[in-house]
Amino acid sequence: MRRILIATTNPGKLRDFAGAAARHGVEVAGVPDFSSLPAVVEDGLTFEANARKKAEGYSRYTRGEIVVADDSGLEVDALHGAPGVHSARYAAAEPERADANTDDEANNARVLRELKHVPLEKRTGRFVCVLGAARDGELLATFRGEAEGIILGAPRGTNGFGYDPLFYFPQIHKTFAELSAEEKSQYSHRGSAFRQLLEWHVRLPEN
Ligand code: IMP
Repeated sequence: MRRILIATTNPGKLRDFAGAAARHGVEVAGVPDFSSLPAVVEDGLTFEANARKKAEGYSRYTRGEIVVADDSGLEVDALHGAPGVHSARYAAAEPERADANTDDEANNARVLRELKHVPLEKRTGRFVCVLGAARDGELLATFRGEAEGIILGAPRGTNGFGYDPLFYFPQIHKTFAELSAEEKSQYSHRGSAFRQLLEWHVRLPEN
């Protein structure tokens, strides 16, 4: 079985990758000893910049292996694209500071607060996921997946992580927190980016 190393400690992201990998006969594993590696500072202005920085940085510790890093988030049109690259720390006093991650509940509460007076038809947005693949400190490729939806006024569902309970996906009339692992991999931004990565990975000369 082919193996891809993922540079993350986010259990929600790891679950999503495991779900997507299972559908494609690929094994994903965390980068060995990931939590003891010096953290790459996520101060890029775009998802691409951060995915690249993380993939290059963490691939330096595993010689010859392909390391994949995920940078992702929620863009809300009525908030001019926020929380965007600051999605993991939107509830922080200074979300621009790269080291201030806040918990999912607080981040969701801030989005709901900001959208309080925005009617449903204007609550459009999307999840974006950019995956960077690197080897020995050198970026090989990036892949972008997006999923379009509507930000609800109250959470729904108990699966998933992050903003999933607020993100209604009209195509199947469910929030992302109401999806099974299989459905999330089929419809999500991460599933889409991961499928593109697999198509690329399978064509690499050493496979
Ligand atoms: P990152 O670790 O800097 O890429 O931050 C990602 C953040 O975006 C997460 O902490 C979540 O708040 C949000 N996010 C990304 N992908 C998802 C998803 O699939 N569901 C819900 N929230 C997500």
